[in-house]
Amino acid sequence: MVVIMKPGFTPEQLESAIRAMEEGGVKVMVSKGDETTILGAEGNAAGIDQEKVSLLPGVDRVMRVTEPYKKANRKYHPAGTVIGLGNGAAVGGERLAVIAGPCSVESESQIVGVAQAVQAAGAAALRGGAYKPRTSPYAFQGMGTDGIKLLQEARQVTGLPIVTEIMSTDNVEMFEMCVDVIQVGARNMQNFDLLKQLGKTTKPILLKRGLSSTIEEWLMSAEYIMAGGNDQVILCERGIRTFETFTRNTLDLSAVLAVKQLSHLPVVVDPSHACGKAWMVERMSMAALAAGADGLIVEVHNDPKNALCDGAQSITPADFDHLMDRLRPLAACLGRTL
Ligand code: PEP
Ligand code: MN
Repeated sequence: MVVIMKPGFTPEQLESAIRAMEEGGVKVMVSKGDETTILGAEGNAAGIDQEKVSLLPGVDRVMRVTEPYKKANRKYHPAGTVIGLGNGAAVGGERLAVIAGPCSVESESQIVGVAQAVQAAGAAALRGGAYKPRTSPYAFQGMGTDGIKLLQEARQVTGLPIVTEIMSTDNVEMFEMCVDVIQVGARNMQNFDLLKQLGKTTKPILLKRGLSSTIEEWLMSAEYIMAGGNDQVILCERGIRTFETFTRNTLDLSAVLAVKQLSHLPVVVDPSHACGKAWMVERMSMAALAAGADGLIVEVHNDPKNALCDGAQSITPADFDHLMDRLRPLAACLGRTL
C-alpha cells in the first residue's frame, strides 16, 4: 500500500499519516520527490484501516500495491532513479550511458588499450570480466584478482569507472573496495545469498536478467538487493532463452518498456550477449535506445578473432567509434544526450 500526500501538507499531517500506518503493523518508507511525497508500507498492510488513512488531512489518496516488489516499484518512487557510476558518469538521467569493454580482461595492454579507445569514443564506463561464469570448466575462467588489478590500472589511466562481474560471496568485500559497479551475471540473478550480501554494500549493482527469468523474477532479485539497504540497482536486459537458435539469446526489448513502467530503476541493454553476433550489435543498440533504455553495455575487443571469450559477439574499437557516431543523432531524436 502507498499513501500519496497532498501538495503543501504540513509536518504534523505527515507524522499522523505515518503513525496511522504504523499502527496497522507496518514499517513506513518515506519517498520525497520534487512534487510528491509518498509513504510506502513495508510488510503486510492488511492491518491498516485504509479508509481512515485516506480521510486524514494532508493525504491525497491511498493506493494498493499488488506487486510483490515494493522498493523497486514505481508506485513508491514515481520519478526515475539516477545512479552514479563513478567519476561523474551516471545512468538514468537525460544522458545515456554506454559501458564498453572486453568480455574478459586478458592482459595489461589489452585492457588499457581498449579502455583508451572506448573512452576516446565516448564510453561512460569500462567493462571487463575477471571472474568468468563459463559453461565449460575447461574454458578460460578469467584472470581473477590479477584481472581486477589490471582493471584498476585501466581506470587510473583513463579515469573510466570499472564494471566487473562477481561470482562468489567470498569476493563481496574485495569488490566493494576495488571496483565502481558490481555486475551480477545472468547465471547468478537468483543467487539469493549473493544478492543479500550485495544489499549491504554501497556500490551500484548492475543486475542482469536471468537466462529464463520473468520480468517479475528479475524485479524480485532487484528487491533482494534493495531490501538489504542498497538502492542502487541498474537493470540489464541481455536476452532470454527461447526456441530460436540463430541468435545466442532473444533480445526482449518489450521488457525494457515493461520494467521502465513497473520500476523507477534505470535499465541498460546488452546487445552483445543477446545476439551473440558482432554484426547485429549496432542495429540492436539503436533499437534498444529507441525502446527507452537508459544505456548500453557492449563488448569491445581489440582482436575479436583471438579473444579468450565471446569473440564472435565482440566489436572492434573502430566499430565502437562508428556505433557511438550512429547513436548520437538518435539520442538527440529521443530527447537525450550521449
Ligand atoms: C558477461 O557480461 O560477460 C556475461 C557473462 O554476461 P551474462 O551474465 O549476461 O551472460
Ligand atoms: Mn561475455
